[in-house]
Amino acid sequence: MPETMTQGPDAHVHGGGDAVLVASDLVKYYPIKGGVLRRTVGQVKAVDGVSFTLHRGETLGVVGESGCGKSTLGRLLMRLEEPTSGQLEFEGVDMYAQRGRSMRKLRRDIQIVFQDPYTSLNPRMTVGDIVGEPFEIHADVVPKGGRRKAVQDLLDLVGLNPEHINRYPHQFSGGQRQRIGIARGIALNPKVLICDEPVSALDVSVQAQVVNLMAKLQQELGLSYVFIAHDLSVVRHISDRVAVMYLGKIVELGTEDEIYSYPTHPYTQALLSAVPVPDPTLRGHRQQIVLTGDVPSPANPPSGCRFHTRCWKAQEVCSTQDPELIDRPDGRSGHQSACHFAQVERILETVDLSHPQQRATTSSFEPTDQPPHDPIP
Ligand code: SF4
Repeated sequence: MPETMTQGPDAHVHGGGDAVLVASDLVKYYPIKGGVLRRTVGQVKAVDGVSFTLHRGETLGVVGESGCGKSTLGRLLMRLEEPTSGQLEFEGVDMYAQRGRSMRKLRRDIQIVFQDPYTSLNPRMTVGDIVGEPFEIHADVVPKGGRRKAVQDLLDLVGLNPEHINRYPHQFSGGQRQRIGIARGIALNPKVLICDEPVSALDVSVQAQVVNLMAKLQQELGLSYVFIAHDLSVVRHISDRVAVMYLGKIVELGTEDEIYSYPTHPYTQALLSAVPVPDPTLRGHRQQIVLTGDVPSPANPPSGCRFHTRCWKAQEVCSTQDPELIDRPDGRSGHQSACHFAQVERILETVDLSHPQQRATTSSFEPTDQPPHDPIP
């Protein structure tokens, strides 16, 4: 990937010609109604000025605590929600300006995989009906007579037995159900897949298999992913770049190496210090940053830097001036950080990241050689 250093939304990693999805200043406020007349008395600022570019074949990890707005962002990218303001372009087309047929066509190209494989699949439908449902809505993609075969091919592609096309979701394990969700997500041959915490509900060993499957599908199908998670260790293996969100805003954005090895925002550093270190001999060496206080309400976010009520580096300016998300020095070429006092803290510095064995200890998410098939019960 070409690396050029330019200003603007996360432009410094990619040239920009291969942009598939461009979000510009996306805002989503939900009104708070009160009183007898149900007047609007306030607003929940779920997403508040998010800009980024997703490039073809790239995975952008979006990480943050619950309530930081990452799932709302995912729904805005799918246009399952209308934004309060802001723009979203898919391959140069203004998504929020599309209506009717043209919007339906765009929906084929951007699909979603939901978090919970236990509740996102209709228990009364067979796997064949679930995976084949998009073909009913977009009837021209696969002719009626070829749909069963198309569904079986999809099941095979995600590592499920095509002969189980008539089984129901409860007959599958959690990992297998998420594979069904992925098969449905890729049925229309989309270009972008929004993955909203796709492995959070799964056991760690199964998480690795599903992440590996998604990495394989990305290579084979040329997909671009927005991979939403609350855990930095989950997105590391699959992400080319990572955006860290706090209270509706991106506070740091960089390549996987920049975020994990050269984090400059205190919030990212705190999240990294909470990533489990599987090797017990290294645990004592890792710096621990314990954040005090709860995440403030998005209905009443702190002034200035939203993180200042929990930040151990906060100074007076932090409570009055909102720091911009711009390129700031990280000891190398620099990357985007929204902190007045951005400074590298190498949270995992006791580990040589270039050494494969030690690298494996920094993440519970290294690839495995396991085949993508789960044993079918
Ligand atoms: Fe902390 Fe201030 Fe930086 Fe915000 S701007 S992260 S409060 S040091």
